[in-house]
Amino acid sequence: MRRINAGLARPRIGSAPTTSSAESGILGATDYSAPAITFDRVNVAYGRGKSTTRALIDFNLRVSPGETVALLGPSGSGKSTALKALAGFTRPVSGSVRLAGRDITDLPPAKRGIGVVVQSYALFPHMRVSENVAFGLRSHRVPRAEIGTRVAEALEMVGMSAFGKRLPRELSGGQQQRVAIARALAIRPKVLLLDEPLAALDAQLRQSMLAELQQLRAALPDTAMLYVTHDQSEALALADRIAVMRDARLVDIDTAENLWKRPPSSFTAAFLGGANLLPCTVTRVIGTSALVSVGGTPVTAHAPRPDISPTEWESDAGALLCLRPHAITLTAPTERGALPGRVTASVWRGSTTRLTVALAALPDALLEVDVTGHDERPAGTAVGVRFPDQGAVLVPAPGQTS
Ligand code: ADP
Ligand code: MG
Repeated sequence: MRRINAGLARPRIGSAPTTSSAESGILGATDYSAPAITFDRVNVAYGRGKSTTRALIDFNLRVSPGETVALLGPSGSGKSTALKALAGFTRPVSGSVRLAGRDITDLPPAKRGIGVVVQSYALFPHMRVSENVAFGLRSHRVPRAEIGTRVAEALEMVGMSAFGKRLPRELSGGQQQRVAIARALAIRPKVLLLDEPLAALDAQLRQSMLAELQQLRAALPDTAMLYVTHDQSEALALADRIAVMRDARLVDIDTAENLWKRPPSSFTAAFLGGANLLPCTVTRVIGTSALVSVGGTPVTAHAPRPDISPTEWESDAGALLCLRPHAITLTAPTERGALPGRVTASVWRGSTTRLTVALAALPDALLEVDVTGHDERPAGTAVGVRFPDQGAVLVPAPGQTS
């Protein structure tokens, strides 16, 4: 298998595209009714023999024109590998990748017309900003007379018009990343891939760049974007849909709202929003309303319909109760209907305090609870725990599907 480990966005010197179709970005017939991006049962493996790592397993994904999909997952889950397979920097063992319906699996990276931005910027250090942005245009055979306009347009889009003469080392990290984005945009790609573009920036800069990426997205309504991140807040801020990845596989894909409100799996519930997952037993389900037992205490919960959930909720079956830390309220320990527990830890976070509570009925399951302001309750304080009506959602226990 061919293995290419070059930086994702590093332009390939010497690759000589035979296309003049810089405008459409891709060769040949384009089917505008097809998804902008298609992954069809893509498998990618690194290495050979016993040391093989399967980095992508039966990966299927479709992204519509103009849609932004975030690939969200922990480090090593295969996110970058998916991007590399689409950009052409790694060759799938099997399966195909398509752009607007056209199979590009065997096309060299430079001929795919995809804009790519990576965490490390990958700018040429000896080239000025405008030369960096122009670089991809030359390899895409954009007429010389047009290059200046395109560079100016791309730098304008990222607010870097005044910096064309600078060298990368004369720019801050955020500015370098803007240039990298301009370079990707200069080829006017139909498909833009971003691999953790904010990961190298400090927290404050990340926030303002996130807002700029939102604006950029709005300015490019026809461009499909695949945005790789391990940071759920970036995925929530930018993506129309979120594809959650784990161990080389796609776990769940849906709108952020659906994944948040009705997580289809315990992994997604925990990874997106850090939910509490309490073991419970289903007592009965009527429509989408469930009565469950948490260590003997009855609790009402939302039960996603079988067409949404991968499981049918059966009486007496075990499940998990998904509870967001901010949705839980603490009461006096003796309040009726509240589950008695004890505070075991408390961390003040400024606008909220994160309390850890051990429930008397389920001493092994620790609940994270966020309360507003600076909470003074020390460890050991007896409390009552109350769940919001319908704010608790049933999630299948791992391995549980109907
Ligand atoms: P992510 O981007 O989600 O952090 P990657 O796609 O980079 O994950 O990696 C997926 C898996 O493939 C990991 O186990 C990683 O160690 C492995 N991997 C990635 N690139 C290579 C490579 N060039 N050679 C060998 N293994 C690799
Ligand atoms: Mg990665």
